[in-house]
Amino acid sequence: MNENYALVVKEADVTYANGFTAVHGACLQVPEGEIVALLGASGSGKSTLLRAIAGLEQVTAGNIYLYGKDLAQVPVHKRNIGMVFQDGQLFPHRNVARNISYGLEMHRMPRAQIKARVAELLQLVDLADYGERQISTLSGGQKQRVALARSLAPSPQLLLLDEPLSALDRNLRETLAVQLREIIKRTGITAIFVTHDHDEADVMADRVIVMEKGYLREN
Ligand code: ADP
Ligand code: MG
Repeated sequence: MNENYALVVKEADVTYANGFTAVHGACLQVPEGEIVALLGASGSGKSTLLRAIAGLEQVTAGNIYLYGKDLAQVPVHKRNIGMVFQDGQLFPHRNVARNISYGLEMHRMPRAQIKARVAELLQLVDLADYGERQISTLSGGQKQRVALARSLAPSPQLLLLDEPLSALDRNLRETLAVQLREIIKRTGITAIFVTHDHDEADVMADRVIVMEKGYLREN
């Protein structure tokens, strides 16, 4: 049954080392290609759940399955999950193209193939002529599109975005929300998108799930 979904989270708890439980019994089933928004106030456990799916936090109860495979014993770098953070976390000393190629270099993809894949991604995020640009010369929105391209480059099976628009100003946020949705839909990738902004969730997602004090509920 789990194989019918890209992602299944089954009764997952995340309890931190200090004994605080940030995620309680989370259940989530995401079909392939769906964009889910995880909407909730600051401190409700959104990042914790996302990081647990990525393998950056340990699940202390329950299970997470990606295409039916239990991820419990799979380390972060082998999960085949892409992640985009609020501030992009780009490498400042690499240009745009070399930020995007980072994951491909890690996977030891041949150079010619890397070049072709980077060109494809630059096109996808509408930055075709920006490959040689330094990160410091980009706008906030352009940086986030580079971050998205970098996370998509190794063709992950799941994309996780943790408040990717929150650092941008209001009107840019709306435009970029529409753009990000279009880009994600074009690739067909399954995505979970965290936000505290109701409008943003509605614009970006196929389905909105509310998180409150560590508990999930369908909206
Ligand atoms: P959100 O992303 O929704 O703002 P978080 O997942 O970051 O929420 O945090 C959820 C709760 O877990 C908060 O109360 C936060 O203080 C707590 N928390 C986050 N990280 C840790 C940690 N390393 N140790 C203990 N508590 C933590
Ligand atoms: Mg957070």
